[in-house]
Amino acid sequence: MTVISNHMPTAELQALDAAHHMHPFTTNADLARKGARVITGAKGVYLTDSEGQRILDGMAGLWCVNIGYGREEMAEVAARQIRELPYYNTFFQTTHVPAIALSAKLAELAPGDLNHVFYASGGSEANDTNIRMVRTYWAETGKPSKQIVISRKNAYHGSTMGGASLGGMTGMHAQGGMPIPGIHHIDQPHWWAEGGDMTPEEFGLERAGQLEAAILELGEDNVAAFIAEPVQGAGGVIVPPESYWPEIQRICDKYEILLIADEVITGFGRTGNWFGSQTLGIRPHIMTVAKALSSGYQPIGASIVCDKVAKVIDACEFNHGYTYHGHPVAAAVALKNLEIMEEDDILGHVRDVAAPHLKQGWESLADHPLVGEARIIGMMGSIALTPDKGRRAAFAAEAGTAGYICRERCFANDLVMRHVGDRMIIAPPLVINRDEIDLLISRARTALDETHAELKARDLMQAA
Ligand SMILES: *Cc1c(COP(=O)(O)O)cnc(C)c1O
Repeated sequence: MTVISNHMPTAELQALDAAHHMHPFTTNADLARKGARVITGAKGVYLTDSEGQRILDGMAGLWCVNIGYGREEMAEVAARQIRELPYYNTFFQTTHVPAIALSAKLAELAPGDLNHVFYASGGSEANDTNIRMVRTYWAETGKPSKQIVISRKNAYHGSTMGGASLGGMTGMHAQGGMPIPGIHHIDQPHWWAEGGDMTPEEFGLERAGQLEAAILELGEDNVAAFIAEPVQGAGGVIVPPESYWPEIQRICDKYEILLIADEVITGFGRTGNWFGSQTLGIRPHIMTVAKALSSGYQPIGASIVCDKVAKVIDACEFNHGYTYHGHPVAAAVALKNLEIMEEDDILGHVRDVAAPHLKQGWESLADHPLVGEARIIGMMGSIALTPDKGRRAAFAAEAGTAGYICRERCFANDLVMRHVGDRMIIAPPLVINRDEIDLLISRARTALDETHAELKARDLMQAA
């Protein structure tokens, strides 16, 4: 048996990593030449790497570690649950206390009559469930032709066949034969990049109107559901114009289309309320949750389903489920996470302290010569890098060139900030305090200065 300790030299860890570990969404051959950064520990909002470097995690891992790293109670709950009941299934007329307790808690927290929980190991699986659930719902209610799910370009709904098909990432669709049949994509409400001469409000209505046009074109009798993230996350933290969601809601109501809110990022406090649907004023029939459901301490996701849909699904045998549905350790840890959210009043901290302070700091970056816009909602923000602020111009260089440079400059300044094309995005742990926010903003500004200098030196400040 091989035991690999943190104390192995970094180069040896990197060599083993390159030899045997295939990284997701990565050109592994390039990474192998450079060597992956080895993360060895974390506490609060800081990561530590194998060289002893301390890095401020502006992304809460992958948008998940909302309560911050290193919460002892989470470890205790996991250990206790493993001793008591590490695993049992819920397929064959059995259940267990963690799944019961978490389901009841989620029903209490979720808005409206979202009272029923179907589990998964993550967001992608939950969205696969959603496709099958909405199609089954319509088949069982005598409308079997209602099968198409409408989604949006540049949406992210996961990486399984179903999730990636719902998603609107062209790079993902290009590999492996996606999207699967019965998925239709409309344009995204991304005013800065695609709004042209329209005001944001006009543009929001135009983009929402595409849903109605698609329903009419495909036929009302063929459309099962519309799925969207309340605020697009992986697409670049795109906050829709205010006119967008009310119009989408009106259209879903009018045509009786099921509305699925993919809350995998926006759930559990990210936008300042428990769910993004509350912040954006949406009434979904199903919410997809994962990520911050357990603050990333355990892999778990779920579909939270309204009374109307659950009643129909419960009346038939839904031939679907995952081995780790409601996994007891994951469920116990998720429940503890929600308890910590409540006991520490993390939503209160976000509302009164973190979100206003972060907004002030983040929006102050808009005066930087490289920044076209700085958008933020709750604890998720984005900035558009541009060679020409006045024209909202894209760079002449391949999309992502400037963003990648900026991400590297962030890393060099001990800040994790991610890039999506030439947009920089943040979603720090919700527990981040004022001083840590100040540090995040000052490191981001330094990284922007260095990026600007490098772009000028390499003659890359050219507009497309
Ligand atoms: C991350 C994400 C998913 C996929 O979740 P996984 O746990 O990676 O399967 C789905 N939807 C949204 C909005 C996400 O951000």
